[in-house]
Amino acid sequence: MTKRFLAIGECMVEMAPREDGAFGMGFAGDVFNTAWYMRRCCDERVDVGFLSAIGDDDVSRRMEEFIRHAGVSPHLAVLPGRSVGLYLISLRDGERSFSYWRSVSAARDLADHLGEVTRLGPGDMAFFSGITLAILPDAGRARLLDSLRQARAAGVRIAFDPNLRPRLWADGATMCAAVMEGACVADIVLPSFEDEASWFDDADKAATARRYREAGAGLVVVKDGALPVLLAQGDDFDEVAVTPAQSIVDTTAAGDSFNARFLCGCMTGESAPDAACAAATLAAKVIGARGALVETA
Ligand code: ADP
Repeated sequence: MTKRFLAIGECMVEMAPREDGAFGMGFAGDVFNTAWYMRRCCDERVDVGFLSAIGDDDVSRRMEEFIRHAGVSPHLAVLPGRSVGLYLISLRDGERSFSYWRSVSAARDLADHLGEVTRLGPGDMAFFSGITLAILPDAGRARLLDSLRQARAAGVRIAFDPNLRPRLWADGATMCAAVMEGACVADIVLPSFEDEASWFDDADKAATARRYREAGAGLVVVKDGALPVLLAQGDDFDEVAVTPAQSIVDTTAAGDSFNARFLCGCMTGESAPDAACAAATLAAKVIGARGALVETA
C-alpha cells in the first residue's frame, strides 16, 4: 500500500552565479529540498508530495513543471495575479551571500489551501519547518498548526525541522515562541544544535533534545555538523557518529537532505540509528557538491 509524505512550505526561484558571470535559474526551498531528496531515497511505495501556493505567471508554471518532473506530486494552489519568491546568490571572494524577494510570494497564503492535509491518514507523514511558519501571517500559522494537530489525532505522523531563521521574524523571542508552538504538534523534531544553542541557550545536545521531548515529540534528532547526531527516543539518548566530509564545497541543504533520508527510514520501518547513519552519509555527499539539489546516485 502506498504511504504519503507531504512537505508543506515555500519553493523559491534560485538565481545562482555561473562561472561565465551570468546567473542560472533553479528552484529550491528547505522543505521542498527535503521532498526532492525524499523522492530519490524512497521507492514508489511512498508518494512524495509538496503543498504550497504559486502564482499564475510563467515562472510559477515552470516551478510546477520542475516539481512534477522531479517526481514530486504538486499540491499547489494557483493564486491569480501573484508570483513566487526569489533569491539571488552573490559570490564575492569565495563567500556566498543571499538576497531575497519573497514578501509577495503566493506561498504566504498556503494555509488557505490545506485540503491535502485532511486527506492524509494513518501511516502517512506531514513535514513542515520553522521557515514554513515564518512566512505565514499569524492567522495562517494558527490554521496550519490546527490542521496538523487534527491530522496527528487521525494517526498521521508529523515531522518538524525548527530551521531557525531570525531574519524572517520580528525578533528572536517571537521566533522561539512560534517554533516551540510548532514543535508541540510534532512527533519527530529535527533541530540543528548550533542554531538551537544560540537562540535557546541549550548547554548541549541533550538539553535541546529534552526541550523538544517535553514539548511532546516522541523522537528528537539533533544534528550538529560533522559532530555526532543525538537521537532521543523516549528516555533513551544515543549518539550516531558522523564521518567528517572529505571536501566541503557548499553546505546548502545538508540538513534538508539529512531530513529526507532520515524520514524515509522512519516511513519504511528502518531503525532510527540506521536511518540517521544513512542520512549522514547522504548529507556528506550533498556538501561535497555545489547547489541545494545534488544528484548523488
Ligand atoms: P544544517 O545544514 O541544517 O545547519 P547541520 O550543519 O547540523 O545542519 O548538518 C546537517 C547534517 O549534515 C549533519 O548532521 C551531518 O550529518 C551533515 N554534515 C554537516 N556538516 C558536515 C561535515 N563537515 N562533514 C560531514 N557531515 C556533515
